[in-house]
Amino acid sequence: MRKKIVAGNWKMNKTFSEAEELITEIADQLDGTKPENVEVILCPPYIYLELATDIAEDAPYSVGAQNINDHDMGAYTGEISAQMLIELNVAYAIIGHSERRKYYNESHEFLAGKVDSALRHGIRPIFCCGETLPEREAEKYKEIVKTQLYDSLFHLTPEQFGWVIIAYEPVWAIGTGVNATPAQAQEMHAYIRKLIADKYDPQIAGETTILYGGSCNSKNARELFAQADVDGGLIGGASLIADEFISIIKSF
Ligand code: PEP
Repeated sequence: MRKKIVAGNWKMNKTFSEAEELITEIADQLDGTKPENVEVILCPPYIYLELATDIAEDAPYSVGAQNINDHDMGAYTGEISAQMLIELNVAYAIIGHSERRKYYNESHEFLAGKVDSALRHGIRPIFCCGETLPEREAEKYKEIVKTQLYDSLFHLTPEQFGWVIIAYEPVWAIGTGVNATPAQAQEMHAYIRKLIADKYDPQIAGETTILYGGSCNSKNARELFAQADVDGGLIGGASLIADEFISIIKSF
C-alpha cells in the first residue's frame, strides 16, 4: 500500500553511545507527536540495529538495515544476511544505494539477488536508483533509472513488487547540499510510476511508495513532499540530528 515514509540512512556514522543518545532523542520527540499517516524508519549501522529495535519496542518507528548480502548463510566473511536480520525485527533494508554501487561495484544482477533475499525473509527492500551528474547532463537520466529498475527489480512478480519501496536519489544530490528541485523530483517520480504501470499495472504503480533522497532537509522537505508523486524521503546527513530529522518528518 502507498505510504508516506521518512527513512534515516545514518551511513557509517555515530559511536555506540552517540547512537543510543540519538535513537532515544528521536523516540522521545516522536512520542505522541508523530504524524499518524507517516511511517518513520531508522537505518543505523548493523551493530546498532539491536539497540534500535530494543528501544523501538514501544517507539513509533521501524528499523531498517543499510545493506544485506544476497545469500542466507555461508562463507561470506564480513557479510550480513536478511535471514539474520529478521530475528532482530528489522523490517526494511536499503538496497542499491549509490555509495554501494560506486565503492563496492555492486552490479544490477547482484542487487537483484539482494532484493530476492530480502523478500524471501519478509524484509521490505528500499531500492535506490538515480543518475550521476554526467548522466543527467547528457540527458540520459531516464534511461539510467529505467535500466536500474528493469535489471534489479522488474523480474519480481506483481505480488512481490508490492513489498518494494523505491527511493529516487540523484547521485549529484547526495551529500552535496544541492537537492533536486521539486519539479525535477516530480518529473522522475512520475516517470518511475509510469515505468511501473507499464511493466505491472496502474494500480500497482499507484500503490508504490516512491521516496526522494539527496540533500533533503527541514528547509526543502515540505516543498519536495508536496509533489504529487513524492511519498516522503530517504534522508542521509539530516537524519543524524534529532531536531532536523523530526522537523522533516513533520513536513507533510
Ligand atoms: C542518502 O545517503 O541516501 C542521502 C540521501 O544522503 P543526504 O541526505 O546526506 O544527501
